[in-house]
Amino acid sequence: MARVFNFSAGPSMLPESVLNRAAAEMLDYKGSGQSVMEMSHRSKVFEEIIQEAEALFREVLGIPENYKVLFLQGGATAQFAGIPMNFMNKNQKADYVLTGQFSTKAYKEALKYGDVRVVASSKEATFSYIPKLERKDFDSEADYVYVCFNNTVYGTTYHYIPDTGDVPLFADVSSCFLSEPMDVTKFGLIYGGAQKNIGPAGLTVLIVREDLLGNARDITPSVIDYTQQAAAGSLLNTPPCYSIYICKLILEWIKNLGGLEAMKERNLAKSKLLYDYLDSSKLFTNGVNKEDRSMMNVTFVTGNPDLDAKFVKEATAAGFVNLKGHRSVGGMRASIYNAMPYEGVEQLVAFMKQFESDNT
Ligand SMILES: *Cc1c(COP(=O)(O)O)cnc(C)c1O
Repeated sequence: MARVFNFSAGPSMLPESVLNRAAAEMLDYKGSGQSVMEMSHRSKVFEEIIQEAEALFREVLGIPENYKVLFLQGGATAQFAGIPMNFMNKNQKADYVLTGQFSTKAYKEALKYGDVRVVASSKEATFSYIPKLERKDFDSEADYVYVCFNNTVYGTTYHYIPDTGDVPLFADVSSCFLSEPMDVTKFGLIYGGAQKNIGPAGLTVLIVREDLLGNARDITPSVIDYTQQAAAGSLLNTPPCYSIYICKLILEWIKNLGGLEAMKERNLAKSKLLYDYLDSSKLFTNGVNKEDRSMMNVTFVTGNPDLDAKFVKEATAAGFVNLKGHRSVGGMRASIYNAMPYEGVEQLVAFMKQFESDNT
């Protein structure tokens, strides 16, 4: 069976070698006589899997000792509530930067818990850019500043880390997790759903500076009380065992390829190929601010919705699937996460060139 090039924004493609390894270990994981899907989350064999996953995460991303790594469920969306419940606890104030759909959702959820301020928004320009923010833009009394680092729907990303002074910076990195090196020490918290770049759906990884824990509101559900989860080693209840195992295999794959520096090189090469073509094309255009372009989600349109639909249809038939833009914005989007090979983008660009010459 031929595998397609899957440009889905998430769940998205996984490295073929990881899938093969999982297949090989499906019926009998390392002589245990069981699949990872079947084993107790309290067993010695699973304990090794979750501990190795954490150790690899720490090694690959360079996570300092004073940060906890949590393996949670509920997706990024559950943490939209978990974050204010756990951290809006000193002045009951938080600053949010709105750069797209997911930061807006996080903001709306946080409104339920306290005094939430919009520091800046690029909504007036259909979220086509990232606001440039300085320390003076933030409320020094805020309990935290919240940003969405890579905007999956619009295809923009922060190419700088906002200086928030003494206020901890929190970032949703769902769609750029482990795509390039990141200085964790600049953040109080980073988190993301696994299904974009680091594994299957069902797992959410949250990395938090230890000194911020310990003040969750009394009404916080235990499963999103990060202090309780940290104390229990993410085993407060049954964790998403199989997704954690696949995440561990992906971390091994990244490490073997040369780590996050190598990942960044690969991702830069892929996105450059696609953006260079879009910039030279007379049919397709990318509408976001050039300097804020995402390396992971590349959006484009022809300017004619009927032609967009024709493109998506013909691309699908040719084995380039899930190129339709988010239902809220239309057009096209190629999500080219870590697992998308260079050849996938190369072949997509060749297909787009042919489509352009056939339709102009
Ligand atoms: C997909 C996505 C989400 C939502 O994730 P769920 O796991 O579906 O809750 C949140 N933030 C970003 C940046 C995303 O890309």
